[in-house]
Amino acid sequence: MEVKKEYYKMLGKRFKKALEKNGFCVKVASSPEEALETAIQMIPQDVSVGIGGSVTVRQIGLVDELKKRGNPLYAHWEAEPEQRSQIRKKELTSDIFITGTNAITLDGKLVNIDGVGNRVAAMMYGPKKVIVIAGVNKGVESVEDAIKRIKNIASPQNSLRLGRLLPCAKTGKCHDCDSPERMCSITTIIEKKPPETDITIILVEDELGY
Ligand code: SF4
Repeated sequence: MEVKKEYYKMLGKRFKKALEKNGFCVKVASSPEEALETAIQMIPQDVSVGIGGSVTVRQIGLVDELKKRGNPLYAHWEAEPEQRSQIRKKELTSDIFITGTNAITLDGKLVNIDGVGNRVAAMMYGPKKVIVIAGVNKGVESVEDAIKRIKNIASPQNSLRLGRLLPCAKTGKCHDCDSPERMCSITTIIEKKPPETDITIILVEDELGY
């Protein structure tokens, strides 16, 4: 256990340095509990918050905590299907957007694949302030590895989680499907901090999300 902790710490340092070189603000948290505390301190009680359907954000307990505090919250996955599009738009115009990331490369790029595109749009040109929460397990060597990881590790698990009968959920690998429920329509690579968006990454020395 101690060895793993040391390893995660080392990864945290490595990714922090690379992300900072690309202009992102990075805060390292040694545990999910510390990540929750760090995020809460960054979010005033009276601001509206959009959340991008991230497993990591829910795992650390941030959604529940924000509900308890009474922040106006936009979380499309909690809405009825016919209202989701409207809530996604509200996420885009909220004061703060909170999300995970599918992958972080060793040279400090954020790589994401979306089905609808609301999450990636909000990450780069939506709310002025974006908080990305990610376990060090999201670290990969290159953009190519990031895409492989997303399609062959994250998507099959997300597909199972969402109860979608996609080919990747059946075999654990991507089949470049043509399904109407396909989760991979848009791939983004944020190479540097976008000039008009304040992005803070809370890097957690633990495994979170898929
Ligand atoms: S393209 Fe289709 S099969 Fe491949 S990961 Fe995406 S949803 Fe799964």
